[in-house]
Amino acid sequence: MSTVKPAIQKSEKLKGVCYDIRGPVLREANRMEEDGQRIIKLNIGNPAPFGFEAPDEILHDVIRNLPDSSGYSHSKGLFPARKAIMQYCQEKGIANVTVDDIILGNGVSELIVMAMQALLNDDDEVLLPAPDYPLWTAAVRLAGGMPVHYLCDEDNDWQPSIEDIRMRITPRTRALVIINPNNPTGANYSRELLLEMLQVAREHDLIVFADEIYDKILYDGEEHIAMASLAEDVLCVSFGGLSKNYRAAGFRSGWMIISGAKKRATGYIEGLEMLASMRLCANVPSQHAIQTALGGYQSIDDLVKPGGRLYRQRDLAWKLLNEIPGVSCVKPKSALYLFPRLDPEMYPIEDDEQFALDLLRKEKVLIVQGSAFNWPGTDHFRIVLLPSADDLVEAISRIGRYLASIRR
Ligand code: PLP
Repeated sequence: MSTVKPAIQKSEKLKGVCYDIRGPVLREANRMEEDGQRIIKLNIGNPAPFGFEAPDEILHDVIRNLPDSSGYSHSKGLFPARKAIMQYCQEKGIANVTVDDIILGNGVSELIVMAMQALLNDDDEVLLPAPDYPLWTAAVRLAGGMPVHYLCDEDNDWQPSIEDIRMRITPRTRALVIINPNNPTGANYSRELLLEMLQVAREHDLIVFADEIYDKILYDGEEHIAMASLAEDVLCVSFGGLSKNYRAAGFRSGWMIISGAKKRATGYIEGLEMLASMRLCANVPSQHAIQTALGGYQSIDDLVKPGGRLYRQRDLAWKLLNEIPGVSCVKPKSALYLFPRLDPEMYPIEDDEQFALDLLRKEKVLIVQGSAFNWPGTDHFRIVLLPSADDLVEAISRIGRYLASIRR
């Protein structure tokens, strides 16, 4: 006799959690590739597969230290790695950071999830940028919190609107997240803007979470100002790692730095330490790369300076996108992405995931739709500027051809 057992469902906790950068459109692209089709992928900020490999000295260090990496490390991470991050804090002007204020993780991703799990009670609100890097929104929801998005203003170089941030604060708001340099817009915030955001945090007693993973990928002489360097009286948690600045995304190596009003936050820090202990430690071989990375030759500078490969590709992709009728794109000052706008009069897109799927099936180009970044419209998409110049030219020309075919 056979009994039908009930389907096994995902947990209620996962309701409303989504990370669409690796969602249905990517699954369709994977299916098409398995079918033997060649797709130009402009979807993920993963430098190494596009020929932006991690510096040799980092690889050698990991290999050299491998025989000593078989055991767990301290939950917060190896001392020399944390010491190197502490010194980096001094260079960035972040005051009063000790080795104990630094926790290493398996990428910034793990630490973002931990930071939200340790903080939020049900329905606590967190202010996040729109557009955002969607892991932040997903992590807030997973922790039972409520993401509240503030608008970044495309007409003002994608700077966050302070007015909008203020409007969205309620008695339940616990924290303000800034992503600077920004994924997906390429914005890099001025000191004045950071000070204004900090003032809001100060007035409303918010924790500031500063995701600064792209802090060395800066074009046109831009300078990055660490939020925590301005925030001695506000609790600030800053995030960085090896994935982008050092093109070592596969190493899964990141860190969080707790600074500012630490004395008031012993309870929260205890929570973070408990979560760090529960996952025992971050991947140990990759922790060995941190000291060499931070202290060694900063080879990313060669890629972002005029004539460097990232610089050239940023200029090329930006120019080609803006040449398509009805497409406008703010020039990125930093990071690895472009976030162009489609004129809704010419391209009345109702469902931008469907738009991305149609473009994929018709032209074999993989982009990410703007709504995946919690952008409240259907008129944007993101591309990465990592593929070769030839692939960028080909992909953007196919995007132009597809847009011409749906143009009103
Ligand atoms: N934060 C931002 C803004 C990112 O763009 C990414 C990856 O794309 C991450 C965090 C995750 O980085 P990691 O590889 O360190 O987990």
